[in-house]
Amino acid sequence: MTATIIDGKAIAEELRARVAAEVARVSAAHRLVPGIAVVQVGHNPASEVYVRSKTRQVAAAGMRSFDHRLPEDVREAELLALLARLNTDAAVHGILVQLPLPAQIDAQKVIDAIDPAKDVDGFHPLNVGRLATGMPVMIPCTPLGCMMLVNRVRPSLAGLDAVVIGRSNVVGRPLLHLLLAESATVTIAHSKTHDLPALCRRMDLLFAAIGQPALVKADWIKPGATVIDVGINRIAAADGKTHIVGDVDFAQARDIAGAITPVPGGVGPMTIACLLVNTLRAACVISHLPAPAV
Ligand code: NAD
Repeated sequence: MTATIIDGKAIAEELRARVAAEVARVSAAHRLVPGIAVVQVGHNPASEVYVRSKTRQVAAAGMRSFDHRLPEDVREAELLALLARLNTDAAVHGILVQLPLPAQIDAQKVIDAIDPAKDVDGFHPLNVGRLATGMPVMIPCTPLGCMMLVNRVRPSLAGLDAVVIGRSNVVGRPLLHLLLAESATVTIAHSKTHDLPALCRRMDLLFAAIGQPALVKADWIKPGATVIDVGINRIAAADGKTHIVGDVDFAQARDIAGAITPVPGGVGPMTIACLLVNTLRAACVISHLPAPAV
């Protein structure tokens, strides 16, 4: 069997075009231009690439981007003061603080300080609780993107067995609630799980959010399963260049899975596209407009 490749790059491009069309509509009809503030502390090279790409895509969608760069040694109080200003800034509908933060800053305190209505990452405890109790909510971008990808090949997940490998607040835990909301039967696996290959082999859906290059092998996968690879691992190859690989051994897995996301070009592009979706949705909620059609 050769798996269907779920083309996240193309799906993200379609999604960005739909967001841009809705932004054009709300700007024309309501003079509303959605705006996102991106706060970056220090100079993490991976964050730099991500923030640049974010700024470009926000502009391409017709939204405003407000970039705030703070020095590596910024005091926590200064960052909290900036967030307090952004919370009350009417031009800002979404606030994103790039993680990780330097050691002198308590990341949870920072997340707690963001107005939940502007929390486009969906990390504020209020949004986490709303997601866990099945209420309408700002859904974290990467898990939202994963669900859009899986739904392309499996429009209904009801009754399917799903495993999520990884229990982070950013990916694994929100995925648990999103999958439950679609009536899948969900198992969360992690570094202490016994016999992970045997567990995975029973699953119709496999989500890998681990951060270990090619950990998931072909013989972990049930024939025909849908595999969503969230991993982004940078490895130095023999040619001296850095390559990005996922958590799944793609070359082997594609011969057994029914559908699979590649890395790069799978979940990655969906994350920023979903950030645009969340910013547009936040702008509409804050402005008391109906939800946008994305
Ligand atoms: P994390 O380090 O916070 O969590 C990793 C999880 O994997 C932990 O829950 C841990 O228990 C589990 N784990 C570690 N080793 C394991 C093992 N041997 N067997 C089973 N479970 C194991 O990571 P994260 O932030 O959730 O990110 C996971 C991966 O997803 C990383 O590669 C990250 O770069 C990537 N990521 C990608 C995007 C995207 O936009 N595509 C967004 C966020 C994270």
